Amino acid sequence: MIEGRTLERIVETRDPAGTRALAGVLAVAARPGDLISLVGELGAGKTQFAKGFGAGLGVTDTIVSPSFVLMAEYRGRLPLFHIDLYRLAGAADALAGGLIDERQGEGVTLIEWAERLEDAMPSGRLDVLIEGTGDDPRRIVLRAGDAGYERYIEALPVGWAPEPAAERAPEGSGL
Ligand code: ADP
Ligand code: MG
Repeated sequence: MIEGRTLERIVETRDPAGTRALAGVLAVAARPGDLISLVGELGAGKTQFAKGFGAGLGVTDTIVSPSFVLMAEYRGRLPLFHIDLYRLAGAADALAGGLIDERQGEGVTLIEWAERLEDAMPSGRLDVLIEGTGDDPRRIVLRAGDAGYERYIEALPVGWAPEPAAERAPEGSGL
């Protein structure tokens, strides 16, 4: 990390609600045209993160894995575009040509398996790297690709951690 800069932060979550809560806090920093790359194994929690991010943007529709469509769009404070490259061989190539089109410029784009785009991913993005699967705690690395994305890291109070499950509102009540 560069001194005085907040390019990276690491947060641990112990359950999916914790990951959603983290994403919800980050969503406050969202601006039109933002790009967020979600990287982690199958079952790491990328879609859980997307759900929480959407909730933070005020999306009321249920966010599901968009594996069978190239891109799902949801309406919130800003439009949310959710892309999953897991099953879409060839889609990466298609996207690489015009990753951010005009419509996406008005909202936030979240891309699961973004590493499949390799060099086609602009460096101006927030990386969310999720380590761990199953019942393991998740180690979530948040990395700003350039100074324009530091606001996401700064939106997270230093030492922020999800509330313990017992103190949280029950499932289905929002975040
Ligand atoms: P991905 O999109 O990365 O394939 P999903 O978000 O669909 O993963 O699934 C993550 C799974 O892991 C869910 O079943 C979720 O309940 C579970 N899980 C357990 N602990 C966590 C955690 N701390 N964060 C996110 N998901 C978790
Ligand atoms: Mg997923």
